[in-house]
Formats: sequence, structure tokens, C-alpha cells
Amino acid sequence: MNKPVKMTPMLRQYMEIKEQYPDTILFYRMGDFYEMFLDDAVIASKILGITLTSRSAKEEANKVPMCGIPFHAIGNYLGKLIKAGYRVAVCEQVEDPKEAKGIVRREVVRVVTPGVTTDEQLLDEKSNTFVAAICSDGRKKNMSIGLSFLDVSTGNFLINEVAYSTDNYNGVIDALTLMEPAEILVPEQDKKNLAPILDLISIVMEGVCLTFRGDSDFDKDTPLITLTEHFRTANLAGFGCDHLQTGIRAAGGLLAYIHETQKTEISYIRKISPIDKKISMGIDESSRRNLELTETITGGKREGSLLSIIDMTCTPMGARFLKKQILFPLQQKDEIVSRLAAVESLLLDQPLLKNIRVILNEIYDLERLCSRLVLGQGNARDMNSLGISLAGLPELKKILISSPPGLVSDIGKELDALSDIYKLINNAIRDDAPIHLREGKLIKEGFHEELDELIVLLRDGKKLIASLETKERERTGNPKLKVGYNRVFGYFFEVSRVQTATIPDDFIRKQTLVNAERFISPELKELENKISSAQEKRLELEYRLFVEIRQEMASRSERLLNTASVIARIDFLTSLASIAKKYHYTRPNINNEQVITIEEGRHPVIERTIEAGRFVANDIHLDHEKQQLLLITGPNMAGKSTVLRQTALIVLMAHIGSFVPADKADICLVDRIFTRVGAMDNLRRGQSTFMVEMNETANILNNATENSLVILDEIGRGTSTYDGLAIAWSVAEELVTKDGRGIKTLFATHYHELTTLATTHKRIRNFSIAVREWENSIIFLHKLIEGATNRSYGIQVAELAGVPGQVIKRAKEILKQIESEGAVSPEIVRYGQGKSKQPYQMELFSSQDKDPVRELLSGVDPDKTNPMEALQLLYEMKKIIND
Ligand code: ADP
Ligand code: MG
Repeated sequence: MNKPVKMTPMLRQYMEIKEQYPDTILFYRMGDFYEMFLDDAVIASKILGITLTSRSAKEEANKVPMCGIPFHAIGNYLGKLIKAGYRVAVCEQVEDPKEAKGIVRREVVRVVTPGVTTDEQLLDEKSNTFVAAICSDGRKKNMSIGLSFLDVSTGNFLINEVAYSTDNYNGVIDALTLMEPAEILVPEQDKKNLAPILDLISIVMEGVCLTFRGDSDFDKDTPLITLTEHFRTANLAGFGCDHLQTGIRAAGGLLAYIHETQKTEISYIRKISPIDKKISMGIDESSRRNLELTETITGGKREGSLLSIIDMTCTPMGARFLKKQILFPLQQKDEIVSRLAAVESLLLDQPLLKNIRVILNEIYDLERLCSRLVLGQGNARDMNSLGISLAGLPELKKILISSPPGLVSDIGKELDALSDIYKLINNAIRDDAPIHLREGKLIKEGFHEELDELIVLLRDGKKLIASLETKERERTGNPKLKVGYNRVFGYFFEVSRVQTATIPDDFIRKQTLVNAERFISPELKELENKISSAQEKRLELEYRLFVEIRQEMASRSERLLNTASVIARIDFLTSLASIAKKYHYTRPNINNEQVITIEEGRHPVIERTIEAGRFVANDIHLDHEKQQLLLITGPNMAGKSTVLRQTALIVLMAHIGSFVPADKADICLVDRIFTRVGAMDNLRRGQSTFMVEMNETANILNNATENSLVILDEIGRGTSTYDGLAIAWSVAEELVTKDGRGIKTLFATHYHELTTLATTHKRIRNFSIAVREWENSIIFLHKLIEGATNRSYGIQVAELAGVPGQVIKRAKEILKQIESEGAVSPEIVRYGQGKSKQPYQMELFSSQDKDPVRELLSGVDPDKTNPMEALQLLYEMKKIIND
């Protein structure tokens, strides 16, 4: 940074602070503004679209670029800078300017980074904003990768460990993308070990901020000490993660970063939880994407994903909980069944459902309110939002408890209605409290004796001023004398110039205006002092009381967060019940029999995006006896991919405890869902389609168990026909025979040859999606029927897609020849190379000299040929082409 030549004391202070935060943009508080100087100002003015000015413009050499933003608009501006990839250090005045000797003391109170933020403008209320840390144990072979995630705005803290080898990075990328962190911390020392992963991260996770950190926070015992000191525990056994050594390094390093950026108590982070793969269904990254669980493949939008369809939650906690369930579906039958029962009971009792949702609708983001209060950032509006949120809780508890026994009433019993916190807010905080804490009008009358006295004094003070005005009017005999106020003189008497004759001796002239004179008197000043000191005391006292109440809330944050998580669960259940009602879903049965039977199943997203009632429902049955692998054939656009995906989605929905879009569903517990869908290029990863396809296929074959569900859509497309067919064939065989038990699989393919597998393997069955031929075209029926099809209708589909008529005609000709002769004739090839503009039937006239017909004709003069000779010639020509 260019340092100015001469520095004022203030700039010197600025530079000192800036030196401690070199990689941030420093927001330097000056009165009602945050100012930025030098390079920061140049960068920020561009991004924020604000004017760049300069300070001390007297000498050109000393010009310091600067720009500023009003302090109350910090949120917006912060947001823009963070989104542009910068981090911001917020520096406040930490003493009262009036009491300051020399320059006001200033300190950075927090650092905002893409992953560490509690500012509403930067947070998506329906998702967590995680900062992650990643580190390696440094082993060359069987490296273990430690991962940790933390959402400062909710206190959610997770730890994980994943095995890594250069030929299998899936686990690490899966684990990272699952949590969608906004920022990833990497200790410098691991940069080299992690290089391939970091490369991949920057390709796969667009826009994520990689932050390299010094090693000390991640080294030796430091991480464990950081964690145990924070949690005030001797070790981490109580959290079930003391064995995760590399994970602990990541978590400790991460927590140190939070301390560094938040600079305040973070006691609301009260536990760390291992991400346990066994307790939830595994869905790898590509399946998550392919099935469009939380965002669409193209565009990465929430709209159009499963989540967007089934989210009818009322609160942000509920929305985040639902999203988490979709990414981590349950694996325990009991839990799933009790959720399903709860959803059913809510569905059947519509008044109950409605009453609960009316209360939930009034609840704000308790988790984030709580963290803002604990971090000392919450204002009186936050407090009021909390108050409003808590107001309905006693009623909610009553309603939940009195519902029939089950999960809903259990949740009711667990709910802490937090009446004490509600009472405190309700008694203390004014409904009309301003956002800013130094302006007073925060605390209700009747809450604090001293404050009440001050308020009375102030109110009386105004009355006293008014009566002094009356008194002086009488004394001077001037009914137009009035008391005024300005910031320079405080209170004064104002008298018009023509009336100054009656001014008493104890009036002191202060100012002469065009038409009026202004005076003060000792009595007026005495009164003023009393009032202004009362006002000052009041502002100070209200601020202090507010901060005390905020601290009081912070000390109860654990209860607040418990309540938030209870609310999240009930909100989740009522959302499922509402969706089930709205879209006519049914309750699935959960079995242990390795059977999946779906009657009249629908695709939850597609059925909503096409015209109502147009979706064609389909049946699917999978078991381990007769129908383990369904080979599904049918033309493009018939609906193969749809039926595959809908089966996976229905199975997944059942595992989160949701009703499903089907008339009837009997679903067994599934440990993992694997999908390989669509011939989609994964350019983001810089790999060819075929490589990605085989990678995903390898992952499936290596990791699927007899309890998994495998969805394979168009495998083997990215290579030559025979290669592809051979691979598809052997993969299908492996899937039905793996470990002697086979794996439940839906296998859509355009290789009709594969359908013969059904005759050799008893657990493979052929299905196809019906189409009807009609006047040379086809109509898609979207109906899955038993039996193979041997036609792909590719040309008809191309025609429907608008491929020009002459191309379609030509394609039909070629197809006909291939079908009749089993190969492509030389004529077709020659024409295909583009040598001639004429159809191939005309080939005999356009070819080279050696053409016998051409040779024959070249020697004939038509003018000298009689009809008999011409006929003879025709016979000869016919003979040539028939040979
Ligand atoms: P395929 O994989 O066989 O090429 P898709 O499954 O991609 O076909 O389906 C193509 C389109 O057909 C879908 O986008 C959808 O609009 C429509 N479609 C598919 N299945 C159905 C269905 N069961 N009912 C109604 N429309 C369907
Ligand atoms: Mg398809």
C-alpha cells in the first residue's frame, strides 16, 4: 500500500490497525461513517459504486484517497464486498469521543469473511452458511483427510474424516460439496499434500473462497486444546469424536479462526458432532446432482429441485432442517416410521395442522437471532423479533402436548416455551425501539427505577422550560418572546429586534439575526444543564440496560437453541403433512424384505411442471428373486430417465419420513442410492464424458451393496458402439451377480442387444416405454410396460425435433438399406462424403470414366442411332447394372 508522505495522528492510527489486517478491507469508524482509505478506498469505491474523494487535498503529494459509507447502511455494503470475494475488518470507536484524550481509541471488533458472517444480507435463510477447514495427516499412502464445518450464524459445528487416495478423491469432494461451504481454510503445510484436491475444489465448487492459514492453529496439541478449552471439557469423548485425530486438527484450526474473526464470546457453539455415515443414507455428489435434490443440474437453481417442491416450512430453521434431511436421509426404520405416523396424524387433523402453522408463521430465525445476541451484535429490533417469536410458544406447547401420543406430542413435551425470556423482553424492550442503540427509547417505562426518574425529569424539564417561557413573557411584557434550541447555544430566548427594549438586565445577548435577537439567562442555562445531563444519563443507562439484557439472553442461549431445534422438527413435520395433502401423496410402508413396489408412482417435480393431470403414473417392482434388474428400453423422450429418477426420489422421500407421489408404495430400507444419469458432460471437472461416466460406474460397482438402489441411465454412450455395448453388458451382468446376491437396479439403455440378457439371467427383466405409431410419426405414451422394444424411433424423434425434411428422408433411406443389408453400401458412403449433390440412385451417371455405362454411352451418337439400336443399347445398360 502506498503510504502518504505526511500523516495526521488519525491516519497513523489507521495505518497501525490496517497493518494488523493486511488482507482485509478496513471499515474505519468516524462518527456516523465508516471510512476507507488508500488502496482500500480505490477498490471499494469501484465495487460499491461510491465516490472516491481525498483527504487533506492541500498538497498534491499528501492526497489520500478515501470513501465512506453511512454506518447504518453497513449491511448492504458489506454484502457487496464479501460477494466480490473480499474480507472486511470492521473497526469501531471503542471509547466515548468526549472522554478521549487525543485521538479516539479504535479497535477491530469483527472480521467478516465469505464463510464467517452473521449479517442477514449475506445469509440465505433457508441454508446454512458454512466455513470449512481441511487438512491431511501427511501420510503418502492411505492418507486421511480431516474436515470440519461451522456455521457461525447458527452454531452448527461438524467434524469428519475421509480416506483419500489419488485414484479416489470422491469421498473428499462428496463430503465437501455436501455442506456447500462458502469458504475453506487450508493450513499452509498441507498445501502440497492437498494440491490435487484443491485443484478439484476450484473446478467443482465455483466461487468458493480458499483461505490459507498459518500452521500454528493446526499444529500438534493446539487444536485439541482450542477445542477442549472452548467446550470446557477434558477431552472430546463426550462428543464421540476423540478418535478423529485429523478431523480434530481441522476443527481446532477452524475454531481458532472463529475466535480471531469474531473477537467475542462464542459460547453458543456448544457441541461438535461427527458426521456419521452409518446413520444416514449415502448419496454421493453425482447422485445428488443428477437427482436435482437441492438444486438443478443446469444453473444450480433451487427452483426446480426436489427441495423446492416439498418445502412448505414456515421457519428458516425448518427449511434448513428439511434440506439437511434430504441430504442425509434416515437409516433407522423406527425413526422413519414414527415420522410417517406423525405426518399422517397431522394430515388427518387439519385444524391441528393449521393451528400449529399459524404459530410457526410468527417465528423468526431463532438460531441466527440467538447468535447475533451472543456475539453482541443484536439490536433492539432483533430482541423484538425474538419476543414476537416466543409469544406463541406456550400455546404451541399446549397444542402439541394435547395431540395423540406420538412424535408430535413428544416434541411438545420437549419444547421449552422460554416464558422467562419472553417476559424479560416484553417487560423491557419498547415495541418502537430504534435500530441504533445509542439513541435511547429502547427500554420501556416501569422496567428500571432510575431510568423512570430520568424520564420524568426530562418530561418535566420540558414543562419547566415552557413555564419559564411564560414567566419571562410576563416579566418582559412581551407575549412574543419564545424559547428556542439549537446545537450551538442550546436553549435561548428569542425576541424580535423591535422589542429588545424590554430586555431585563440578567439576559445575555448571544446572537443577532436579521429580525431577531437571541439571549440566554443564568436560570435558563441551569435548567438546560439539568435536562441535558438527564438526557445523557438516560441514553447511557438505556444502552447499559440493553447490553445487560442482551448478555442475559446470551447466558440462556443453550435453551434458545434447543427450542430452535425443536421448532425446526415440528415445522419439518407440518411441512411434510401440508405437502402430502396438497399434492396427494401417500404414506409408504417401510419393509425389511428387500422389496420395492411402487404403484402409480409419479415424478414429484415433473408432475408439477407439466400441465396438470398430464403426468402418466408408472408401476415399478424390484426384488431379489425375479426382478432385480429392469432393463428399460424405448425411444428418446419416451420417459426412461423420468421413471428412473422418480423411483430414486420416491425411495429417498420415504427415507426422510415423507409421504410419496404414488398410489401405493412399499419401500425397503436402502443404504445408498447410486445414480449414473444422462450422457452429460462434466466439463466443470475438466474430464471427458466417458471418463466421468466410467468413474461413476466404478464407484457404483465398488461400493454398492445388496441393500443399495442403483440407477443407470444410458451407460456406455460416450464411446464406440461395440465398446459401449460390451461395457454395458458386463456391468449389467456384474450388478445382478455381485456378491452372489446382486443389487436392485434400474438400467435404461439404447442398446437393444442387451435385452437378450433377460433370457440368460433369471433376475433380469425387460421393460420398455410404450409409444404408438401414428401416420408415420410416433406418440409418446410414457407408460412402462413389460417386454423389450426393438425399435428406437430415432428418426421419428429427430423429425419431431425439427430436423429438416430432406435429412429425415435421407436418414430413412440409409436406415432401410442398413436394415436390409446389415451394412452400409459403398454408394451410401461415397455420397456421405459429400462428393455429389445428387441422390445416390443417380450415382451411375456421375461417376468416373471407368463406369461401364458411361463408357458405352460415350461412343453413341443419338442422331445416327435408329430405334432398334437404341432399344438394344438400353438392354445392354440394364444388363450392366443388374450384374
Ligand atoms: P428419455 O430418458 O426416455 O429420453 P425423459 O425421461 O427424459 O425421456 O422424458 C422426456 C420428457 O417426456 C420429459 O421431460 C417429460 O416432459 C416427458 N415425460 C416423461 N415421462 C413422462 C410421464 N410419465 N408423464 C408425462 N410426461 C412425461
Ligand atoms: Mg434419458
